[in-house]
Amino acid sequence: AAAVAAAEQVVVALREECATPAARLDEVAAAMAGEMAAGLVEEGGSKIKMIVSYVDNLPNGSEEGLFYALDLGGTNFRVLRVQLAGKERRVVKRESREVSIPPHLMSGNSSELFGFIASALARFVADEGHNTVFNDRQRELGFTFSFPVRQTSITSGTLIKWTKAFSIDDAVGEDVVAELQTAMEKQGLDMRVSALINDTVGTLAAGSYYDEDVVVGVILGTGSNAAYLEKASAIPKLEGELPKSGNMIFEKLISGMYLGEIVRRVLLKISLQCSIFGNLDQTKLKTRFILRTPDISAMHRDGTPDLRIVAEKLADNLKITDTSLETRKMVVEICDIVTRRSARLAAAGIVGILRKIGRGVPGDKQKSVIAIDGGLYEHYTEFRLCLETTLTELLGEEASKSVAVKLANDGSGLGAALIAAAHSRYL
Ligand code: ADP
Ligand code: MG
Repeated sequence: AAAVAAAEQVVVALREECATPAARLDEVAAAMAGEMAAGLVEEGGSKIKMIVSYVDNLPNGSEEGLFYALDLGGTNFRVLRVQLAGKERRVVKRESREVSIPPHLMSGNSSELFGFIASALARFVADEGHNTVFNDRQRELGFTFSFPVRQTSITSGTLIKWTKAFSIDDAVGEDVVAELQTAMEKQGLDMRVSALINDTVGTLAAGSYYDEDVVVGVILGTGSNAAYLEKASAIPKLEGELPKSGNMIFEKLISGMYLGEIVRRVLLKISLQCSIFGNLDQTKLKTRFILRTPDISAMHRDGTPDLRIVAEKLADNLKITDTSLETRKMVVEICDIVTRRSARLAAAGIVGILRKIGRGVPGDKQKSVIAIDGGLYEHYTEFRLCLETTLTELLGEEASKSVAVKLANDGSGLGAALIAAAHSRYL
């Protein structure tokens, strides 16, 4: 009983520390909007990196032809091929292949990583089949590269730093398009990178391709980040570079979400303070990132009366066996606390963007749709529902009628192909 009381104390403290009352989230949203504005004034003007996308030409549906995309940003990369058939028929064919990146390539050197990617792409192109489209044309590719990049044009950008599981020193400061282009040439692949984008920009493009009310693209996957449409006149740091369309897509980087890892740390803390997990060998529980977010969502949604799935996950991942039902309920509550905080902060971030562009206010006649891609939002039901409820809570019933969120499934990949089409040299 003393052990349970000690564990409960940890959970009570956690609940307090992770609390996100609406008033606090309103402050987060207001601060976000303010930081975003500051980040538009000058480079480094804000804690939020406001990166220019150089996409001033979103796909509008009229695009035609066969286009490729490469989506690199997590543990896998995807290659895509889409056949576009104009305003009425849109995407008539969509093929893709997912390739997992061998871990040693994530911390090796740049030419090895890009060589691996280019060879997979070359194999995918080889399966294109009979095709007359490219007789006198070079294939065109949209490259989704979801790491912080300082872009200098729609087809070039230097890597600022790696994030997530990547760390390849010799790529930092280099033009990632040039690296890919060189690797493709080595593979004998005659293909041109016609757009370099981020997954958030791809999601925004894919979302708005089907629904013109989409004004924000959000990624809630391995990392989290967003892009939105900004008036070029609201970007002092652009100075003489104003694009013709008067609009510029921006990207705002938010911190990553490591929900499984947070839950592991809480469980470890409990285990170090009391004995509710029995006589435990803590080796597993002390291993970073051993508990993954899909495990958290599986435990969170466990509907079995004796929380059998929680028991399985604890045993399989952490070697925690023989837990009481009371302990398993506590684990579910920890998942709930950690995930609710995450979803509510994500909602506050979205509200911050809406505040920045003056959308989602009472009486707003314009509809504002937020396109979201990423495994966290797509697969973690409790997360998704909490995000949506919190949006309504923060915007208010009335204003939230003009705001909608929707899943843009694989928007990051499809969007790259669409932007490549919109920036085709054969237009
Ligand atoms: P990436 O962000 O790497 O491009 P995804 O959009 O596919 O890739 O997102 C993968 C991430 O989504 C995983 O790292 C994990 O955090 C989360 N995820 C995937 N499946 C689930 C799930 N069933 N429940 C909760 N989170 C999940
Ligand atoms: Mg992705």
